[in-house]
Amino acid sequence: MSDHIKAVDVAAYTVDTDQPEADGTFRWTSTTIVVVTISAGDQQGLGWTYGPAAIADFVRGELAEVLIGRDPLDVPAAWSAMVGAIRNAGRPGVAGYAISAADVALWDVKSRLLGIGLHRLLGAAREAVPIYGSGGFLTYDDRTLREQLESWAEQHIPRAKIKIGDTDQRDLARMRQAREVLGSDCELYVDANGKYTVKQAIRLARCFAELDIRWFEEPVRSDDLAGLRQVRRAVAPEVTAGEYGCDLVYFQRMCAAESVDCLQADISRCGGITEWLRIAAVAAAHGLQLSGHCAPQLHAHAAAAIPNLRHLEWFHDHVRIERRFFDGVLDPAGGALVPDDLSPGNGLVFKTADAEPYRVR
Ligand SMILES: [Mg+2]
Repeated sequence: MSDHIKAVDVAAYTVDTDQPEADGTFRWTSTTIVVVTISAGDQQGLGWTYGPAAIADFVRGELAEVLIGRDPLDVPAAWSAMVGAIRNAGRPGVAGYAISAADVALWDVKSRLLGIGLHRLLGAAREAVPIYGSGGFLTYDDRTLREQLESWAEQHIPRAKIKIGDTDQRDLARMRQAREVLGSDCELYVDANGKYTVKQAIRLARCFAELDIRWFEEPVRSDDLAGLRQVRRAVAPEVTAGEYGCDLVYFQRMCAAESVDCLQADISRCGGITEWLRIAAVAAAHGLQLSGHCAPQLHAHAAAAIPNLRHLEWFHDHVRIERRFFDGVLDPAGGALVPDDLSPGNGLVFKTADAEPYRVR
């Protein structure tokens, strides 16, 4: 292969949220996307992650020189070289997110060089990738929550997740409102973002039993594997976690500890598509499905390629940013994303000029 990687470009952009947002353990008013572009031959691959702008500095300072000159067809070799190069920086956090964004760009540039869709390069297991609406922040008033839930219903997305982790009384009131707005046919999920103790989570689940909640995400801290397992054994909804994992071993431990009913992993954090596919295999070996966390346009093609996919998270913040920054985004109407067979790579074009006003690195 003569078209070696010739450039690795990176930039960070901070976009204000449309209103203040909070979950059970965190509040925010802006979101930063770090975009990596890898050039080889006459093609450019696009990858990104969400996190501190320092990720851009890390890609530029630590990863670019590892990638330049490599064969873009040999993604696992490039991935291994990046993982080796960051050993002393530490994989979780900035380094892991940086590797993830670069790995996504590597898979994209490879499929563009080959002139095929990324889902075809990976090998599709399905045509359509189910999604669930995700938002329902604790900062929303009743009217905002209602409008968001209705907007997903209008797009025929048959699954919705809201944040909980306020007082029991308000959590229950918001869950009741969500069930009332969505009706009985829509799957209703809740995410506590690790807010509760084991006993609090079990008690709350008893209180919301009549609401047919199907999914109870991070009822306790996601690194409390024994606590997750205790909740899982005591409550009716599926207990799920995994969004903070940065390497394969994290997910193997979570599965082996029988902590979750469905594993979650985020391509933009876990080590990119390369690692996410391996996480899917670990999950499968434990009889579990995998759900993609956030960044739906980033996950869609890889999600189409794993047999044990549950669904992807159609996360309000990232939906908003991905629509603003990329042409060619996939449409959620009907509750599934369908990767396009006619567009090489991930089918996206970065709108550089539109993004420029938000640039911070
Ligand atoms: Mg979550």
